[in-house]
Amino acid sequence: MKFNTIPLFKVFGIQINLDYSWFIVFFLITFTLAVGYFPYYYPGYNILVYWIAGAVSAILLFASVLIHELAHSLVALHYKIPVREINLFIFGGVAMIEEEPPSPKVEFRIAIAGPVMSFILGTFFYILVLIYPQDDLLNGILNYMMIVNYIIAFFNLVPAFPLDGGRILRAIIWSRSSSILKATKVSSTTGKFFAYFLIFIGLLSFIEGSFINGIWYILIGLFLLQAAKASYEQTKLSIILSKYKVEHFMRPIKPVLYNETVHDVMTHYVPFFHLKTVPIIGDDGKYYIADVEDILALPREKWHEIPIIQVAKPIEIYVSPYDPLIKAKKLMDNFNLDELPVIYQNTFLGIIKKEPIESLIQEFIIKEMAHEQRR
Ligand SMILES: [Zn+2]
Repeated sequence: MKFNTIPLFKVFGIQINLDYSWFIVFFLITFTLAVGYFPYYYPGYNILVYWIAGAVSAILLFASVLIHELAHSLVALHYKIPVREINLFIFGGVAMIEEEPPSPKVEFRIAIAGPVMSFILGTFFYILVLIYPQDDLLNGILNYMMIVNYIIAFFNLVPAFPLDGGRILRAIIWSRSSSILKATKVSSTTGKFFAYFLIFIGLLSFIEGSFINGIWYILIGLFLLQAAKASYEQTKLSIILSKYKVEHFMRPIKPVLYNETVHDVMTHYVPFFHLKTVPIIGDDGKYYIADVEDILALPREKWHEIPIIQVAKPIEIYVSPYDPLIKAKKLMDNFNLDELPVIYQNTFLGIIKKEPIESLIQEFIIKEMAHEQRR
């Protein structure tokens, strides 16, 4: 669940969300254009007109970023790769493309689609500027839109994963080495270097006294650095876990009855299944869960008297046996859980634990390292 985004609308079945941080960019861009750029290059208008022109440009920029992300998404959808949502936030947009692309060719096409679209948009505004060569504010907006779209196209082409250019680089290395993991490693390393470079430029601008630019470069650099690290981890996980579903790792377990005593559950049930949570079926037929830690906090001499349902809460987070394993892993990571209930069509089937998934990941990494050493 996300609390910091506003759902806007759906296009091609993709949910478009606006992160609150986007309002900061919106304000900054409107402000810079209305107070600095437009009055300087196109003098003689009312201040209100400058603010409207600034806001219109910021909204057009938003639309341009959205169209860029939609271009990636439509190519992904064309190859039957699900795209859940597009999030627009302070540094631009991210299309949540759910799976790793099946081949380098597909990866290349998804990645190049965004910059190509931005280039087309830039050229579209360039043509409008040519058609409308007046030296006024409207021309100013068109001119500005041409420039930002070209900047979006070229900035994204820098070969620094997870930028589009980094994905293109990854596709090229992947097609030559046939290891997506190795390709991701190389391209996210260039991603990190580029991030450090931006931070360095930011510090330089800071020293030279242009603070706003400096902070901007540093923030983008830090964001890219974090993104490069995270996307490498993410890719590694989805490659390792992609072959499995929850059912492969689920342990079938029956929930206990709501009126069993805490004592009975703790002596006959928990030690046997090595559980950290106890699934319970309530007298309303619904499923509940109790934390073993919460039970241990109860006075032991009372265990005989307390029915297990008293320490239980309704099950809110669970998976289906047919969910991809990566979904279970992500849920456990996000909510800091060691196990998850597995429920299918209102029937409690069992529990999936974190440990076997982690061992699978460890095993894979060890194998991968041994493979590296042999070469
Ligand atoms: Zn892109």
